Amino acid sequence: MATTPELKETKQANNTIFKEMGLTNHEQVVFCNDNETGLKAIIAIHNTVLGPALGGTRVWAYNSEAEALNDVLRLSRGMTYKAAISGLNLGGGKAVIIGDSSKIKSEPLMRRFGKFVNSLGGKYITAEDVGIGPKDMEYVKMETDYVTGIPESMGGTGDPSVVTAFGVYMGMKASAKFVYGSDALAGKKVLVQGVGHVGTYLVKHLVKEGAHVTIFDINQANLNACAQETGAVIFKGDDIFKSDMDIYAPCALGATVNSNSIEKLNCAIISGAANNQLEDENIHGKMLMEKGIVWAPDFLINAGGLMNVYSELQGFSKEAAMKNAEKIYDLTAALLHTAREENVPTIDAAKKIAEKRIEAIGKINRTL
Ligand code: NAD
Repeated sequence: MATTPELKETKQANNTIFKEMGLTNHEQVVFCNDNETGLKAIIAIHNTVLGPALGGTRVWAYNSEAEALNDVLRLSRGMTYKAAISGLNLGGGKAVIIGDSSKIKSEPLMRRFGKFVNSLGGKYITAEDVGIGPKDMEYVKMETDYVTGIPESMGGTGDPSVVTAFGVYMGMKASAKFVYGSDALAGKKVLVQGVGHVGTYLVKHLVKEGAHVTIFDINQANLNACAQETGAVIFKGDDIFKSDMDIYAPCALGATVNSNSIEKLNCAIISGAANNQLEDENIHGKMLMEKGIVWAPDFLINAGGLMNVYSELQGFSKEAAMKNAEKIYDLTAALLHTAREENVPTIDAAKKIAEKRIEAIGKINRTL
């Protein structure tokens, strides 16, 4: 089975679990086992200073338990940054269920998992992620209220992709303003890689504004549907990274921004929805800066989906979530200026802003 796209940091095989937790500064990791249903899950709670740890549950056939642990630690830490930089009162968490999602899922397994989530008393709130569908969440919800991002038919706010795409659009406009002095995207050549849920909504915004949008996807049906719906042009060629573009919008998988692609890319801005776009945060953030490519941090501009579920938790509407996602424009603008002033990669500036907020709010939470 393939490694998940986000799983790029290979850790030492002989690291202990506490050593791994120490490296990422995790609060709590819960291992869930149930022989009856075959459930093997890990819930990672990275940080709860700002609020309950929120993050989806992923079902994936990992090659090893170490790989599953690595993935859940990495993803939960990412959620902490996303919530903190977006000004949400949420912490970071994530869960993984080990196994092939087309084979292992059942009502008892999902409900048993729901019981484990419930046992944490709200410290961790779950949602959908890769390998999980609305029906699975319905089972989880039978056992716990600590679930969000549920379908509209169940009283939730439904598909978060529309809010995510709007936030990415806002982040892209702010990046354009930073680079070109105007946030108008009309006439700009944008390549969108991955036209699934978020990608297609994003293309709609871009085409509406008059950008020249080229799309690429490994799924021909999605590609055709998006082209037909939006009028965007389908990429023709052997290498998208070598194509003529002003803005590259990764909206498929993580780790597409790496040494190989950066060398070929000839764009001014990278701004997309995919999580963990940089294959290696330490190496590739710096490489982009040196090449003069402005990278809008993924965990900032794709936070619309998280804002959507946050709205659901607070009992607010989808409109409120969209209004919140509009703020991604100002947040991105401020971040890009800070990174320039401090002469640091945008990833470093973004992490610093998130960490500062956690530290400051942590201080107000001390007992009186
Ligand atoms: P999706 O599964 O609906 O769409 C992903 C698309 O990418 C699919 O059409 C798939 O065929 C395509 N794809 C996969 N590998 C590809 C490749 N190598 N080259 C080109 N296309 C490829 O997913 P989505 O919900 O649209 O999410 C897109 C990305 O945004 C993911 O990385 C996801 O983690 C991230 N994200 C999504 C949300 C959300 O609200 N859905 C929120 C935050 C982040």
